[in-house]
Amino acid sequence: MNRISTKLAAYFFIVVLIMESFLIFYLHQNIIQTRTEEEFSQLLASGSNHRDVLIGHYSDITMKHIVLMEKGEEREVVITDSNGNVTNSSDEEIISLKETLSLLKDNYPTTDTILISDWEENPYIVSAHPYISDTGNTGYVVMFQSTRSIEQLVSELNMHFGMAGGTSVVVLFIIYFGLSKILTRPLIRMKEATEKLSEGDFDVSLPFIGKDELGELSGSIQKLANDLERLKTERNEFLASIAHELSTPLTYLIGYTKVAMRKEVSEKERENYLAIIAEESERMKELVKNLLDLAKMDENTFTVSKDYFGARPFLEDIFQLVEHSFELKGLQLNLVCEENVQLYADSLRLEQIVLNLLDNSLKYSKENTTVTLKVYKKEEKTIISVIDFGIGIPADELGFIFEKLYRVEKSRSRSFGGSGIGLAVVKELVEAHGGSIEVKSVVGEGSTFTVTI
Ligand code: ADP
Repeated sequence: MNRISTKLAAYFFIVVLIMESFLIFYLHQNIIQTRTEEEFSQLLASGSNHRDVLIGHYSDITMKHIVLMEKGEEREVVITDSNGNVTNSSDEEIISLKETLSLLKDNYPTTDTILISDWEENPYIVSAHPYISDTGNTGYVVMFQSTRSIEQLVSELNMHFGMAGGTSVVVLFIIYFGLSKILTRPLIRMKEATEKLSEGDFDVSLPFIGKDELGELSGSIQKLANDLERLKTERNEFLASIAHELSTPLTYLIGYTKVAMRKEVSEKERENYLAIIAEESERMKELVKNLLDLAKMDENTFTVSKDYFGARPFLEDIFQLVEHSFELKGLQLNLVCEENVQLYADSLRLEQIVLNLLDNSLKYSKENTTVTLKVYKKEEKTIISVIDFGIGIPADELGFIFEKLYRVEKSRSRSFGGSGIGLAVVKELVEAHGGSIEVKSVVGEGSTFTVTI
């Protein structure tokens, strides 16, 4: 009983069997009852008919005629006098005759009556019809109807219903095999697939089996397998990228440290190398910090605590931090923000967002161009745009720049000092605020990053 199809077939079998038994019993009883009622009324009708003829023409000849009419296989007639003695009979050896006569003597029915109705126990059903002729003669016309035809009907019914029962058992077996094909096989395949998944093998392929619940379950398992496979590949690629990202600055650090340690190197050169080492270490620290932030966001252990604060003072503070770097590259930094604009965000996280976007526009802007930070309200939302006239991003790469460690033209980022993690952090932070980020960019003309929170 381990297979679901066997269980279903068993339940189905029991239910159908119960229903069928009720139905067969009901039909059986009904048909037999109708048939016996028919026999009773026919018997009563012919009995009363004979009695009427006898009353109208009471004579020996009439009695003989009546008896002659009923001589046959199925029906017999007996005529008695007032003392209950048989005067005429179609058959002298009717089996139930004695019993009938004593019943008549006990009851003396005054109307047409069924004397024996139990067709299962008796060879005849019997009706009695009292008569009083014009000449004053009294007695009974007693009709006997053989129960053979009812018994024959019952045995035929039993045979037909037995055949119907047998056929339904065969049909149920066919249903069982059908169910096992439709239901059990896909389930077994799904079970095998999930076992494979739990062992870490995500290479699973389940066939399409329709749009019902089973099909949906199979589709979900397939989707789960595909997602796990993708995550596995992504994780491996991510680890490879991190290893690569860390190994490059480390190579620099080791190289420059070795050079700086050389005795013949002048003090000025040593200072220069140490500055490079410090700068590379700083970048590594930044990368590791960003990676930790991302890991926290992935684990959902990261929270934002939102508050209301004025946009202008907040942005002016950020400008003070970055102004110097922009000046060094000859870039003009503009702030477009009305005095009374209020922000509702986690100020530390929002600062991280804006700094990352400004840092990118600083890195990827052409010299002597402008970078504009525009903040305004649109309906209930706040829009923060960073617009630059830098090198831009190719259209086919725009869809990927928010992915972890994704960089446009790998060599280009390194020369600009990027690691491909900044925008991934920005996107996660914006989404943690319940907002969204978009980018519009044309290669050689510039880019606009728009945050809506
Ligand atoms: P990175 O640290 O390399 O800048 P990001 O995740 O911040 O990493 O950016 C991903 C890629 O998007 C970068 O490699 C860069 O090529 C491109 N990018 C980001 N911002 C700009 C921008 N303002 N102008 C041009 N390209 C940009």
